[in-house]
Amino acid sequence: DFLTKTIRPEHLIASIRTRVQRFRALRSLMVRDSMTGLFNHTTTNEMFEAELGRAKRHGSVLALAALDIDHFKSVNDTYGHGVGDLVIKSLARLLKQRLRSTDIIGRMGGEEFSAILSGVDGPTAEKIMNDIRQAFSEIQHHTEQGAFSVTMSCGIADFPRFETQVQLSEVADKALYAAKNGGRNRVVLVEARVEHRGTHT
Ligand code: GH3
Ligand code: MG
Ligand code: MG
Repeated sequence: DFLTKTIRPEHLIASIRTRVQRFRALRSLMVRDSMTGLFNHTTTNEMFEAELGRAKRHGSVLALAALDIDHFKSVNDTYGHGVGDLVIKSLARLLKQRLRSTDIIGRMGGEEFSAILSGVDGPTAEKIMNDIRQAFSEIQHHTEQGAFSVTMSCGIADFPRFETQVQLSEVADKALYAAKNGGRNRVVLVEARVEHRGTHT
């Protein structure tokens, strides 16, 4: 912007403040999901990459949790899309409350979420996510048609057992799939290490 010189300090400050506020609002729109305030899909993956790089450099552990609300379509069908949105928001709020501020929580689309827990190993992440699963299942959602509860399933993959971002994502998704097939409302920590190419001795 063009500001003529001999501007009064309070005008300069006000002018800069407005620009900073505009920049922050715009950045937030690009980075966050507007419905839940969680990071969007793109940002989550970028932050995951950075966090994984940090874990590799520092020799620390990390866990990736993939979450999906169970039978969510039937929530929409029974109570309507608006109530469905409230259920999505309630899980987002629970994740924000229960996880640490340093953890990365993303809404990956629809009723699917990811959480990247730095400095947390697989078994610890399993306990943390299982507590969240339990708490979510206990929430009563009140509507004009009465109250109901919803469950979620979760799959977890951990570094350094799995090393790349692609591997971690695929394995967490597989574990989530296993949680769904196992009856839903459960957390599955991936068991075996996936065979690497070129690691046979
Ligand atoms: P599963 O237990 O296998 O996960 O069953 P599901 O019904 O949750 O799975 P499915 O992926 O078939 O359904 C997801 C539904 O989520 C379908 C879609 O209409 C709904 N959905 C996606 N995004 C939103 C949203 O932002 N708000 C609401 N209310 N519904 C959404
Ligand atoms: Mg889904
Ligand atoms: Mg679902």
